[in-house]
Amino acid sequence: MGNETADVVVIGGGIIGMATSYYLSKLGLDVVVVEKGEIAGGTSSKCDGNILAIDKEPGFDSQMSLKSQELVTELVKELDEEFEYRAPGSILVCENEEEMVAANAWVEHQKQAGLPFRMLDRNDIKSEWKYMADDIYGGLECATDSTVNPVLFTYALAVTAKRLGVRLKTHTTVTKIRLDANGAVEGVETSSGLIYTKQVVNAAGVWSKHIGQMVGIEVPIEPRKGHILVSSRTKSIGTRKVMEFSYLMSKFGKERKVDEETEKYGVALVFEPTASQNFLIGSSREFVGFQTQINVDVIRCIARRAIRFFPVMKDIPILRSYCGLRPWTPDHLPIVSRVEEVPGFYIAAGHEGDGISLAAITGKVMSELITDQKTTITTDPLRYDRFQKTEV
Ligand SMILES: Cc1cc2nc3c(=O)[nH]c(=O)nc-3n(C[C@H](O)[C@H](O)[C@H](O)COP(=O)(O)OP(=O)(O)OC[C@H]3O[C@@H](n4cnc5c(N)ncnc54)[C@H](O)[C@@H]3O)c2cc1C
Repeated sequence: MGNETADVVVIGGGIIGMATSYYLSKLGLDVVVVEKGEIAGGTSSKCDGNILAIDKEPGFDSQMSLKSQELVTELVKELDEEFEYRAPGSILVCENEEEMVAANAWVEHQKQAGLPFRMLDRNDIKSEWKYMADDIYGGLECATDSTVNPVLFTYALAVTAKRLGVRLKTHTTVTKIRLDANGAVEGVETSSGLIYTKQVVNAAGVWSKHIGQMVGIEVPIEPRKGHILVSSRTKSIGTRKVMEFSYLMSKFGKERKVDEETEKYGVALVFEPTASQNFLIGSSREFVGFQTQINVDVIRCIARRAIRFFPVMKDIPILRSYCGLRPWTPDHLPIVSRVEEVPGFYIAAGHEGDGISLAAITGKVMSELITDQKTTITTDPLRYDRFQKTEV
């Protein structure tokens, strides 16, 4: 068990760690990924696979998503394996007049920012969605939204990165980060030995806080649990992603007009037809620590919500359900940044419900930061020190 060296050690083999390693390897850097379990064994296999701009605030947030969508179309051609990429667009549907007014304002706002959004009336919805409940008012569409299989996407990045020379150390836990006398990174201690390196990327998702503590910094990322139901393979109810408009309210913690249980578990319909026509039906949003047991009350609540929008769902069997932990930050933006007080220490984490959407842009930008290049997008809103300026 000898000591190794690397230009960069990436901690975490989820979608963010793998995208970062892939882009670093393209620049010719010598990279080691240390993953305590399997590749994609964390949140990146307990999620949906939507690559969305529809739910992003106009401005930096949506521009970053659009750039990532563009990069994913390049990855479809570049990576060695396919990952069920499709780009059918996605829609949000409204339950009442009030939501239609808010949706209209959202669409206008997005269009002014140059994004391909449009309103849909009751007839548009009914002609595309024959199984949608009759009382749905209308909705809106974002034409560029796409979808992938998140596990296959993570593996496609991993396999290609490996071919480019990245060393993947699975079932290996990072236990300590060594700093030199000036407080700069000098190595990473793992359960299978020491790796000398001057640069470390903390891509440990909801566990990033723990990695931050190894270098004496506070990383403000908390786990936000979500449940998903998987339906059996069935007739085609729809071919693209549909969400309820009030999902946006749930995502940003705003007030919604729903029953007590739906509010308590933060349930809002997210309906995703997969390539195999098994629907992923979600989801919930809760702060309950690192606990990932299935809560039957939440499952029931999600199922009720799905039937409210698609009454036909009451006859479709559910195969299984699963839970994942979204890496939440207080301002809903990830941290993609160097940490000034610990030279050589970087963070690429905190993507909450957008890690699949933002993996490509995160990996690209992180590779540019590490090699001191001009970044593809500005990274100011993603800096770690934005939280030091405000109360966390
Ligand atoms: C229900 C649900 C639905 C979602 N739907 C979507 C969606 O449709 N679109 C979207 O964009 N996003 C979605 N997300 C969010 C997305 O899944 C996450 O943002 C993303 O997977 C985070 O990736 P990550 O690489 O940061 O974390 P992870 O995938 O959790 O990877 C971190 C890795 O670090 C490893 N690690 C931790 N500590 C150590 C250590 N000490 N040593 C070595 N390794 C360590 C872990 O084992 C883990 O594999 C959803 C999430 C949930 C829960």
